[in-house]
Amino acid sequence: MTENDNKEPPKSILEVIRARLGFKSDSPSKTGPPTKAGFNIWYILLPFLIFTMVQQFFPSATVEKIPYSQFKQYISQGKLGPLVIEQENIHGTLAEKPGQRFITVRVNDPELVKDLKEHNVTYSGSYGNKLISFIFSWIIPIGIFFLIWRFTMKKMSPGAGVMSFGKSKAKVFAESETKVSFADVAGIDEATEELLEVVDFLVSPDKFQKLGGRIPKGVLLVGPPGTGKTLLAKAVAGEAKVPFFSISGSEFVEMFVGVGAARVRDLFSQAAKQAPCIIFIDELDALGKARGMNVMGGHDEREQTLNQLLVEMDGFDTNKGVIIMSATNRPEILDPALLRPGRFDRQVLVDRPDINGREAILKIHSKNVLLGDEVDLRKIAGRTPGFVGADLANLVNEAALLAARNNKETVEAADFDEAIDRVVGGLEKKNRVMNDQEKKIVAFHESGHAIVAESVEHADPVHKISIIPRGIAALGYTQQQPTEDRYLMTRQELLDRLAVLLGGRVAEELVFEEISTGAQNDLQRATDIARSMVTEYGMSESLGLVTYERPRQSMFAPEGFGSGKTYSEGKAAEIDEEISRFVEEAHQRVRNILSERRTVLDKLAQLLSEKESVQGEELREMLAAS
Ligand code: ADP
Ligand code: MG
Ligand code: ZN
Repeated sequence: MTENDNKEPPKSILEVIRARLGFKSDSPSKTGPPTKAGFNIWYILLPFLIFTMVQQFFPSATVEKIPYSQFKQYISQGKLGPLVIEQENIHGTLAEKPGQRFITVRVNDPELVKDLKEHNVTYSGSYGNKLISFIFSWIIPIGIFFLIWRFTMKKMSPGAGVMSFGKSKAKVFAESETKVSFADVAGIDEATEELLEVVDFLVSPDKFQKLGGRIPKGVLLVGPPGTGKTLLAKAVAGEAKVPFFSISGSEFVEMFVGVGAARVRDLFSQAAKQAPCIIFIDELDALGKARGMNVMGGHDEREQTLNQLLVEMDGFDTNKGVIIMSATNRPEILDPALLRPGRFDRQVLVDRPDINGREAILKIHSKNVLLGDEVDLRKIAGRTPGFVGADLANLVNEAALLAARNNKETVEAADFDEAIDRVVGGLEKKNRVMNDQEKKIVAFHESGHAIVAESVEHADPVHKISIIPRGIAALGYTQQQPTEDRYLMTRQELLDRLAVLLGGRVAEELVFEEISTGAQNDLQRATDIARSMVTEYGMSESLGLVTYERPRQSMFAPEGFGSGKTYSEGKAAEIDEEISRFVEEAHQRVRNILSERRTVLDKLAQLLSEKESVQGEELREMLAAS
């Protein structure tokens, strides 16, 4: 029932019956919500069945139920009229009152016929009402099962009637319906730029094919919730003016066994017919969680669906002009098979917007809002670090609502102030907004990391420094770009890495003469490196070439099994001392580096507080100028 490649899909028997009964047939290409069945065979069947059931169990008042013993008495008293003997019952009338009918349950009585003969009773046999017993033993149970099945199907996949079993729910948006373009997206310029190429391909595929280039099959948008991933995918379809099939990963998962895989197949075959087009699978993580992660037997249905998706992606020829886009905010739990070349081989980071981005997003969303003259979007953007596009859209809406409630002509700065307080209040609970002092600390912290990374010999160059909060763990980040793949690391490289990790903490020490908890993760990682150098790599002079740690055993081995300590208490103290020494030496070294470059540190932190993100190039220029 899922194959619909032919022009005229073969009709199933059920569909034919539906047609006969006057159902509106779901055409396979239209997959909107099915028409609510206005007419249903059960509306007729059910009353009939209830009627017969009532007849059966509550025989009309004129029929008297009598015990068998009384029946036998009637025989011996010669009171009986003609009888009808069935398998289970005996129906009869009394000779004196022919209208008075009775019924009795037939018991196993070999004497019955002899008795009847003796008293000259007319009798005949009957099989009973075959139709009724047939209805009771077959039609009703089957009917009940059918109803249950149908009910579950409806529950499992709302909008999918029995007849569209396996049909994809993917909604087909024509370009005129998405109506989203890149002009509606702001603040995530890097992602937008990367997707321009996809648009280009969809618009003029021959340009690429002529050169023999391979178009990416799948593009995975990765980023925090509300940054505009879904919006961006729609914008790509809108810009390229191609159909946009969108479906959410969680929709696949809630399905009945076997339906998810069928839907995937159907989705792809529909898309192939409408190429060039975009298939967009939102919330891929719901579907694409790594297989075999669930120890308790797993979600077989999800795995099947995922497998089907992988198969379809492999069997797809990008030259047909179908591009698969997907979005997730949890890339780390995706099945590695999804990220292999030939599948979602291109990943686009959709990050939180910086202050310029936020201003641009505010501009878009306040386009249709009457703003007061004194409203400064730049200032609002400055007050909302950590906000994503969805938060900002919400903010503008809140401000407009507040203004309307106060019967104002335009939305004023005061409304925005109040709206910010509200939205921030909501977000603060989620630990996403910093106050000014925190912002300053984070700016120095990240500057410290970055300057040390640029100052030591073996660290990767800094790509970008940012103090846009990203979740609870990291308040800011310094992004370094590896220049080459590394398989081995030398002692000096590890020491440099250690120094970079300590850079944040030391900068705080130098500037504030006080330290915050923000460096906790850094210190943990620094300690790990130092420990590995001492216990695994034999890089400590005083302890020598002995390793004190065994590689971890299988994850199924009991806790502590095979990775136990292989050294004495005395050695343990010595190891701890060595680790401290490594960290302490690195600490001193970083202090020197940062003290020397204190002016750059101050300048960079200042710049960061203003702009929230600084490119590595700018830092290198500052360092060169100092
Ligand atoms: P995601 O899919 O990343 O969770 P959405 O694309 O669903 O986020 O964004 C929700 C809404 O927030 C969008 O419909 C849009 O109104 C607004 N929005 C989010 N990001 C942006 C952006 N970069 N530019 C403009 N509006 C945005
Ligand atoms: Mg989304
Ligand atoms: Zn840090």
